[in-house]
Amino acid sequence: MRLMPWVYLVGSGRYGFGLTHPLDCHVYLVQGQGQYALIDSGVGLEVDAILRQVRDDGLDPAQISTILITHSHADHAGGAARLAQLTGAQVIASRQAAPTLRTGDMVASGARLGQQAGIYPGDYQLTPCSIAREVSDGDLINVGDIEFTVLETPGHCRDHLAFYARIEGKPSLFGGDSVFHSGRILIQNIPDCSLPEYSRTAQRLAALEVDALLTGHLTIALSGGHEHLQAAADAFQALRIPPNAL
Ligand SMILES: [Zn+2]
Repeated sequence: MRLMPWVYLVGSGRYGFGLTHPLDCHVYLVQGQGQYALIDSGVGLEVDAILRQVRDDGLDPAQISTILITHSHADHAGGAARLAQLTGAQVIASRQAAPTLRTGDMVASGARLGQQAGIYPGDYQLTPCSIAREVSDGDLINVGDIEFTVLETPGHCRDHLAFYARIEGKPSLFGGDSVFHSGRILIQNIPDCSLPEYSRTAQRLAALEVDALLTGHLTIALSGGHEHLQAAADAFQALRIPPNAL
């Protein structure tokens, strides 16, 4: 589904648009010149449905050269190994997420807790995935003519990244599970969720120029993204906790 020039939504589950497997996060395809990037990979239980979306949009999955992972939670990272295998893409993740993804660590990724909470099926396994490149804050990732800047954005979990790019001049933030539409956040009862870190992340994101706010779930803002980031920052600034997304 084409969202804006050079950006397509090719995966989205029950907390989104129901395009693909219900447990998939939003999966974006960014069409750089001659090469495409995927942002996140869904849960991995039905990756063919994601590739079908790519083809239905008139795009060739073999052009996907890079898969950027926002964080190690299974609904975002679970499909990476299989999608990389099917497309030949390299997977890029944060320095903190890389060991978790390489080993398919069910505990560190939170997938075991998710399973115990009934979110993931009892037989779910995070597929180990080779990580071609580990990135840190400020690193640049080039995919065709698109340049993404890596932003470390802990809070929702420790290993979280957001990716910032100007796409045809439009400042765009692929925020993962950092700050959502209407200034919502996603606090969960997991060991590496941190309110103080979330607050710093929200302040930092609100300082960016953002038009398109392309989050990991729920409503997407194709313009005016900054106001949603500012709403979360304002709540934290007033010592309140922004409303929870789920
Ligand atoms: Zn998450």
